[in-house]
Formats: sequence, structure tokens, C-alpha cells
Amino acid sequence: MRKKIVAGNWKMNVDLNESADLIMSIKKIYDHNPDVEVCIAPSFPFLKESSELCQGEKIKVLAQNVNDNLKGAFTGEVSIHMLKSINVDGVILGHSERREYYNEDDDLLLRKLEVSLENNFKVYFCIGESLEDREKNNHFEKVKNQLEKTVFKIDNIDPENLVIAYEPIWAIGTGLTASPEQAQEIHKYIRNLLSERYGNKISDNTSIIYGGSVKPNSARDIFEKQDVDGGLIGGASLSPQDFIDIVRSI
Ligand code: PEP
Repeated sequence: MRKKIVAGNWKMNVDLNESADLIMSIKKIYDHNPDVEVCIAPSFPFLKESSELCQGEKIKVLAQNVNDNLKGAFTGEVSIHMLKSINVDGVILGHSERREYYNEDDDLLLRKLEVSLENNFKVYFCIGESLEDREKNNHFEKVKNQLEKTVFKIDNIDPENLVIAYEPIWAIGTGLTASPEQAQEIHKYIRNLLSERYGNKISDNTSIIYGGSVKPNSARDIFEKQDVDGGLIGGASLSPQDFIDIVRSI
């Protein structure tokens, strides 16, 4: 059975004390449910402390980025081994902000994906269309194309190590959410593409989570849909109560 997942992406929003406070507040109200994987993604400098604070709490700690090389002269970059050495559990790749502001194209994302999976480092891989694509009814083609240029170039995928996050760009940080029906329609489409590429067993076991302005009052209806296996949460993950209410909506 595939996992239910709720992951909070804190982006570049909180400093050391604020990160620690957020984790402590989450811990106070979080009651572990073995059926739901809960993750947080603090910024690089706070990952070590965050992973220490989360030890034994069954909260996974993710990085927001990783380099596509394992070691060497890459000033300012961070490798998978560095992240693993401080018990980081995985990485968010392909976020639209990285694609747009840091020119992370499909080729680079494929390299990051390959090196992560080869090194047994779990990837939460984001895809999703722009508003223009959606308005032109081009959203199915867009996500298919993104997958064909990245994930589908890899012959063997392990659902334990790869999560797909469908994040329509027009819904990220805008307050606009895909309707539960829109989310289900495209998640089902993505699952069918996974099935065509890897077979039913892999597609049935791969978690596909939704991201884009999920709030406590919208989470339940979206998560209820058959092919939506949880959420990637930006803004609302900065409020411990909202984040845990979203976790409880699964
Ligand atoms: C995100 O950035 O991945 C995201 C889903 O943000 P928000 O929830 O704020 O739309």
C-alpha cells in the first residue's frame, strides 16, 4: 500500500530559533499516526539541529535542495553525503521556485534525481503546470513532458524512495487551490502514466501528493480523493496548529 504523506516546506522563512520553536510546537500537538509520514524541510543551516530535535519523533527532515555531484570543487553547494551525515531523510527536487529562479531545467533535475536515487536518498519530486498551461488546457501535456524528461528516463524506480508532488504553479502561494476534482483528475492521469511506464505494482505504490495553497479548511476534501496521497504544504506549514490540522485531515 502506498504511503500517506504530509510535508512542510519552510522555504527561506525561518531562522535558527524560529525553526527550533516551530519543531517544539509541532511536537507538543503532534500525535504520531503510523499511517501518515510527516516531514518538514527547514533551510540548510538548521537541518542538523532540526534532525536532532526530531529524533524519535517520527518526523522526517528533508532538504530543500541538493547538488548533483557527490563531492568536489563546487563552492557553496551541499552534497547528499553531507545531508546523510546529519540524518537528513530526503530532498525536495524540482520545486517550481528552483526551476524558475535558479534555472533548474529538466536535465539538471534528472542528474539530481539519478544521483539521489542511486545513493538511496529519498526524493520528493515536484511537477506542475503554469497558469498559462492550465488556461490553454495544456496541463496534462505539461506534466507528461516533465515526467518524460526526468523520472521516466530512469528504468527502475522504487516507490519507497520516490514521491511525486503535483504542484500547479498557479496555486503555489497564491491562495488559489486546485479543486478536489481537478487534483484527482491529474493525479489519476499521473498514476496512469506511471503505470504505462513501470506497471501497475509500481504505480499503485507510488505516493502522489498535492501542493498549492493547502490550508486546514481545504485539506480534507482534497486528501479524500482516491489518487491524492497527501500534501506538500508551504505557507500553512509555518503555523504548527495549521500544519498539524492538515496532517490530521488525512
Ligand atoms: C509549495 O511551495 O510547495 C507550496 C505548496 O506552497 P503553498 O502551500 O504556500 O502554496
